[in-house]
Amino acid sequence: MTAGIAVLGSTGSIGTSTLRVLERHRERFRVVALTAHGAAGLLCEQAAATGASYVGLVDGSREACEHAGTRVAAGPECLIEAATHPEADVVVNAVVGAAGLEATLAALRAGKRVALANKETLVMAGDLVLAAAAHGGGEIVPVDSEHSAVLQCVAGHEPPELRRLILTASGGPFREWEAERLHHATSEEALRHPTWEMGPKITVDSATLANKALEVIEAHYLFGLGYDAIEVVVHPQSIVHAFTEFVDGSVLAQVGFPTMELPILYALTHPQRVADAGTRWFDPVAAGPLTFEPLREPDFPAFRLGVNAGRAGGTAPAVYNAANEVAVQAFLAGRISFSGIGELIDNVLENHDVQPANDLTTVLAADRWARERGEVLCSSR
Ligand code: MG
Repeated sequence: MTAGIAVLGSTGSIGTSTLRVLERHRERFRVVALTAHGAAGLLCEQAAATGASYVGLVDGSREACEHAGTRVAAGPECLIEAATHPEADVVVNAVVGAAGLEATLAALRAGKRVALANKETLVMAGDLVLAAAAHGGGEIVPVDSEHSAVLQCVAGHEPPELRRLILTASGGPFREWEAERLHHATSEEALRHPTWEMGPKITVDSATLANKALEVIEAHYLFGLGYDAIEVVVHPQSIVHAFTEFVDGSVLAQVGFPTMELPILYALTHPQRVADAGTRWFDPVAAGPLTFEPLREPDFPAFRLGVNAGRAGGTAPAVYNAANEVAVQAFLAGRISFSGIGELIDNVLENHDVQPANDLTTVLAADRWARERGEVLCSSR
């Protein structure tokens, strides 16, 4: 029996990596549903190659696919339809940004395993996501490399045995830049990530370190630790993915050459491990010296703003996430400077009246409010 897999966001960086992994494990998995945002041509090729029975396009022309004989569902509802596909056992959610939230909730309510690459889901509505999993019998397994590392280290342990997490951060392309030079960093410079090849949104988030704040919030929900017990250290080589400290003082780390294919495969097979022909076997000598340094918080304010939003709870993390998405888009479009990203997030959060995030309507309203507020601030610059 093969497990049915739905891949949401199949044409992005995680999506294409996922399909490569699935291709190598055809005896275990079959692709049943694919969705993409707008890349109809690639989606259509993927549909033909995998034989997915459901193909959805969120936005864009579906004619390219139909010419090729693939029937395509169009519109944002396709995310939920794919996430709840009756033949899908695992939903890989690799949608970028807030758009992935409702699909995660729907999949968990339908009792599916969600291999979560869309960290915004947990950041915006962590409590709702956990409640949906508890009620529907679904399960969240992280695809993010740091969280996959922690999951691999805690397997077989009970939550009270866990004391502290230290997530590693590559430090991004600006790790060694002087504060003054950072203000004028361009989008081309921000998009040149030293160790990971990823989509533009997450690459900019890695440059501002907003990505690491999102990951701290994600870890808080996934592993049930308070914010004081989740730390971040800069580790430019991206070989150690996270440290997991237990109450007896023992520290386990998961180590390996940077690749997203291992965390993707592990999210599909957890808690089992399976042999994979795509593995680059580890070589400590080739990995070279491993170094660790503190995060330069004053120069990367998006990090602390995010962690503080996580601590504030309620609608604050959703507002942080939305303000960050608007700021990143504005930066990529050349409308604001690199340092403008942190300023914009700070400004939006300052103006937000935090509410308890008890239902999806409240979360989505906060998300919308933050986007509008962020847009106004961009336009007034
Ligand atoms: Mg990560």
